[in-house]
Amino acid sequence: MTTKSVTILGSTGSIGTQALDVLDNLGAEFCVAALTANSNAGLLYGQIMKYRPKLAVMVDEAAHNELEYKLRTAGVDIKLLQGTDGLLEAATCADICVNALVGAAGLLPTLAAIDAGADVALANKESIVMAGELVMNRASERGVQIVPIDSEHSAIFQCLAGNKGNKIHRILLTASGGPFRGKSWQQLQAVTVQDALKHPNWEMGRKITIDSATMMNKGLEVIEARWLFGVEPSRIQVVVHPQSIVHSMVEFEDGAMMAQLGESDMRVCIQYALTYPRRVKANFRRLDILNRSMLIFEPPDIMAFPCLQYAYDALEAGGTVPAVLNAANEVAVERFLSGKISFTDIPRQINAAVASYNIRHSFDIGGVLQADAWARGLEPMA
Ligand code: NAD
Ligand code: MG
Repeated sequence: MTTKSVTILGSTGSIGTQALDVLDNLGAEFCVAALTANSNAGLLYGQIMKYRPKLAVMVDEAAHNELEYKLRTAGVDIKLLQGTDGLLEAATCADICVNALVGAAGLLPTLAAIDAGADVALANKESIVMAGELVMNRASERGVQIVPIDSEHSAIFQCLAGNKGNKIHRILLTASGGPFRGKSWQQLQAVTVQDALKHPNWEMGRKITIDSATMMNKGLEVIEARWLFGVEPSRIQVVVHPQSIVHSMVEFEDGAMMAQLGESDMRVCIQYALTYPRRVKANFRRLDILNRSMLIFEPPDIMAFPCLQYAYDALEAGGTVPAVLNAANEVAVERFLSGKISFTDIPRQINAAVASYNIRHSFDIGGVLQADAWARGLEPMA
């Protein structure tokens, strides 16, 4: 048995920590090559002591210095880097790169992994939202596999296994509806940060939890599905399914519909992304179907959750517009979380940013980064 090396970008986050759980389940078949974090020195230190990677990266300088001191005191032999350049080195040093970073910071590491010929287990949907066409083209040129971790896309990926060559008639992307399902736009004016952070079915990082509450998460996922599976946007339909048992569905040309079901446990998706096309025994949460027999499906409420429509519009506009949408969303979510704007200001500000985007940056990685920076009112990264 050959051991495969794995990097986890964002190992201290919700997906990152669950990816380490999965590696515990998989045992000696995989080894950890590199771990990275933004600022949680205590947690990354613990992970380093347990998994002994050869490389670790801490983006934040103060946290890096704290970690360096701890590692030196403990006499640990490891290469420790600071800053975003370190992420690129980590992305390229293993057979498989798990990208569990949040936001636009994930794009260059995704590309670096592809360029280095590493397969990508992708949780960072923002990479695909910003530059899906470019990322997918580069992966196919390099013969690199991108396996989604996002539960809906993992479900679609699994429904497509064994269906190579069969045309997809329609993708039904399920959405829980988030904590505010059933509320009107008027009622959403008054919701608080605390209300928005209470997701009914999934425990996730703060950014994606707010995205789920505005349904921008589903909008980002429509864009993600469009590029991961090469399906026209008109063939991607969002279906609200509050139980989150059916993780998504694919309808084929003969009318047959395939679905993947399970409890809400991201570890199933993470493990499949690592072991694909194999399935490996695991004791993650199992679905007790007799106790979960009420499955409801309903259309989304675009009036209350306009972010979903903004994502379709950005896809239609094409080029760097989805990158502007993504960055405007990140900025608005951050402002909402820090109490500067209201919940309904999130869609308002995203819409205003996209509407005032009159420059058309070239649709290459440089242009995508410029569009991202434009939407944040910043100079481009890198
Ligand atoms: P999180 O906030 O819990 O974790 C993010 C990780 O990235 C942390 O390790 C953090 O240290 C690191 N990080 C954050 N900003 C960084 C930066 N600027 N530079 C370098 N590192 C940085 O987020 P999460 O919920 O684990 O989500 C990660 C990705 O997975 C997101 O794209 C999200 O949309 C996607 N996803 C998450 C879930 C889930 O259940 N959490 C489900 C589906 C998809
Ligand atoms: Mg999802």
